[in-house]
Amino acid sequence: MEHIFIYTFVILYILNFFLDLFLSRLNIKHLLKYPDPPKPFQEFIEAEKYQKSIRYSMSYYRFHLFSGTVSAVLFLLFVYAGWMNAIDLKLYEIVPDETWRGICFFFILSFLSYLVGIPFGLYSTFVIEEKFGFNRETLSLWFKDQVKGILVSSLFMLPLSYAILYFMSSTGAYWWVYVWCLFFLYNLILLQIYPIFIAPLFNKFSPLEQGELRTKLEELAQRMKFSIANIYVIDATKRSTHSNAYFTGFGKTKRLVLYDSLIKEFSTDEIACVVAHEIGHYQKKHILKHIILSQSTALLFFYLLSIALNHPYLYKTFLVANQSTYMGLILLSFIVSLVLSFFSPAFNFFSWKHETEADQCSLDAIEKKDAFRTMLIKLHVQNLSNLVPHPLYARFNYSHPPIKERLERVGLL
Ligand SMILES: [Zn+2]
Repeated sequence: MEHIFIYTFVILYILNFFLDLFLSRLNIKHLLKYPDPPKPFQEFIEAEKYQKSIRYSMSYYRFHLFSGTVSAVLFLLFVYAGWMNAIDLKLYEIVPDETWRGICFFFILSFLSYLVGIPFGLYSTFVIEEKFGFNRETLSLWFKDQVKGILVSSLFMLPLSYAILYFMSSTGAYWWVYVWCLFFLYNLILLQIYPIFIAPLFNKFSPLEQGELRTKLEELAQRMKFSIANIYVIDATKRSTHSNAYFTGFGKTKRLVLYDSLIKEFSTDEIACVVAHEIGHYQKKHILKHIILSQSTALLFFYLLSIALNHPYLYKTFLVANQSTYMGLILLSFIVSLVLSFFSPAFNFFSWKHETEADQCSLDAIEKKDAFRTMLIKLHVQNLSNLVPHPLYARFNYSHPPIKERLERVGLL
């Protein structure tokens, strides 16, 4: 009987892998149909720069094929060559307490996936990004980031993992409700702590300097009922020259963050469009909606786990000999993340909807509508983004609508 479950999981896993390869290939073939700058963008991009953006996409395509294949093969070996079970059996000999054994198991699993990710991370930063002139990071900065990242994630993950495993084994039949409450509170606290204590460990956050830009943004922020004190600039160019902006935090710790590269390269009117878009996310309560969606998914996950935890087939599907709380949690997360990857177009549907709403807010608030179009095109051109992704690939992989559709959605094309 367990064979049916094993085959089902492995077939779905391989199917998902080939679906990803198929979509990536479809996307790159679609891009190669446009050897010259596509129609609405011709006047904004020189032929040479456009060719460079095609080569940039090709580099990431090849890199994705290689890293995706290696990761998939290693995952299947880890589970079905019995490596995962062997680690677990060894831990049973060394750590008798189940909660601490779970912590050790999580630590080993995270460490192994981190190790696998290192060469890929190094290659994308120091080979691809370097070749296309985006990289500013040095090896010593990369190393410092790694050390800080490991320390911070251990500091935050250790108490959470301990508390979850402890609650799972000691709060009775409704443990999933308690664990979810804990998880929810933890995420709310993290959302408060992240912008103030964690993000500044990696970047310097400065308030906007006095001048034309600040005056312009002060007027805009006032019109959109947002405090200018919550707008910060970060020294992103110490790592990369890619331009971006984002909104983070919640309640008192909300922050609108602009990359210094954006300030340097874009006009005051264009930056105002970016700021108005980010304030649009805040006005439309997108962070709150995102929290509701992710926490509902988490609640469903813990409820499913309460049903599956004592089911022998959950463990047999992954060739694991011993049933335990931590192993059940990991194995169900393998299944859920695989199933969810098939539903990524549904999640992206909401994300695209939010982006369009924020774009509309921006257009309603700014004075020069044309600056919005040039800002968006410039952002894509400078980041060497694919201007013509395949629609199906975009549905699965893009959190924002492709640029052409994005402009069409707000009537700018
Ligand atoms: Zn956005």
